[in-house]
Amino acid sequence: MNRTLRIAVIGGGIGGLTAARALLRRGFEVHVYESSPELKEIGAGVALGPNAMKALRWLDLEAPVRSIGYQAPFQLLRTWKGRMISKTDATLAAQRFGANGCTIHRADLLDVLAQSVPADVVTLSARCEAVTTGQASAAARFTDGSEIEADLVVGADGIHSAVRTSLFGPDAPQFTGKICYRSVIPVADLPARRIEPYEGLWLGPHGTLVIYGVRRGELVNVVAHYEDATYQHESWIAQCDRREILDRYRRWHPSLQEIFAAGDIWYKWALYDRDPIPAWTKGRTTILGDAAHPMLPYLGQGAGQAIEDACVLAAALARLDDDPVGALLLYERSRRPRASRVVLTARARGDDNHLVSPIAALRRDVAIAVRKRLGADVTGRGEGWIAEYDAGSPGALAG
Ligand SMILES: Cc1cc2nc3c(=O)[nH]c(=O)nc-3n(C[C@H](O)[C@H](O)[C@H](O)COP(=O)(O)OP(=O)(O)OC[C@H]3O[C@@H](n4cnc5c(N)ncnc54)[C@H](O)[C@@H]3O)c2cc1C
Repeated sequence: MNRTLRIAVIGGGIGGLTAARALLRRGFEVHVYESSPELKEIGAGVALGPNAMKALRWLDLEAPVRSIGYQAPFQLLRTWKGRMISKTDATLAAQRFGANGCTIHRADLLDVLAQSVPADVVTLSARCEAVTTGQASAAARFTDGSEIEADLVVGADGIHSAVRTSLFGPDAPQFTGKICYRSVIPVADLPARRIEPYEGLWLGPHGTLVIYGVRRGELVNVVAHYEDATYQHESWIAQCDRREILDRYRRWHPSLQEIFAAGDIWYKWALYDRDPIPAWTKGRTTILGDAAHPMLPYLGQGAGQAIEDACVLAAALARLDDDPVGALLLYERSRRPRASRVVLTARARGDDNHLVSPIAALRRDVAIAVRKRLGADVTGRGEGWIAEYDAGSPGALAG
């Protein structure tokens, strides 16, 4: 047993903090370097599927996450005009997959994760510029000129990862022609004062709407996707005028105008896509989360995949702790095929959601209903393989 490995995690977001929690529980020495002056998140919700909740269960974090999250009693899928395509009882997912999903405010999730590790394992205001990696150790250099050396470096520094760029060069994001608007609205500000009339996924020509509760149902998170090739700013914090959303969705179900009107602050985000990359690891450095597999948000799996990575990385290191380089390769072998498949499935899902032809959309909706009726999968959209996965089980490690 060699649990004296010193592991530097670059990035204290959802993936980095989960990795710290998972590695500390396995007895490793961990330090997190986060570029921001505080651990904070943008104001938005995040969906955690059954797979993410099972991974959190292994880390003893399922209960605190559920206590501040929201659990919809049904998963609702509707057309843009309000016709119900499918209604799935949440208890069915729990029975089939071993856990129910949960939706949560990103800041609340980050709080739970931050509280789950000792404060002194995180250094703030530390922006990594580059890493160097070899067979015996790895080092990270920061923008203030300082450097650290560790037995292993884990890049959990998000979509614009400096660690990934150091290892493999810059990536080539492609604009998808899709953008999304989002807002978090107090339920008390909604005319219905309830989430249910709006809740769920709404599919329409050129767009998808995702509406769910967070913070025990006190807030409602709205993400409104649309096709627009003219806006190409990949920012999570650029604001826009509410009138734009009201206009975009004016032909959708009238109840949606109510919810859009209740949102004071709206953000606008151009969606870029990146192909899965062929390797995550070099020497004593690897990457996880968005640094390794940024994906479109259509499956609500970005955070879930980062959480799965963290669990599997810790398990791989625990199994091969006397061979850290081999352990990183085991982690990559175990995770890259699945995460890449999720990236590609999320890409396809965006196109399937935005179908313009009414006939194609009807064909999609009937196929969903039939698959559900036949019991082929819980939601009828063929994503059982995502929910089934259990990152903490021994089977999650490749043979
Ligand atoms: C608006 C929005 C909605 C989303 N909705 C969902 C959803 O519903 N479901 C879902 O599963 N996923 C969703 N995602 C995606 C999900 O949030 C990400 O996939 C997930 O946060 C990935 O976690 P991460 O830790 O890899 O990256 P991040 O959460 O981006 O964390 C990266 C961390 O690294 C820090 N950092 C960056 N660069 C450096 C550096 N050079 N040095 C040191 N630190 C650095 C950052 O400050 C940050 O704290 C959403 C994302 C956004 C933006």
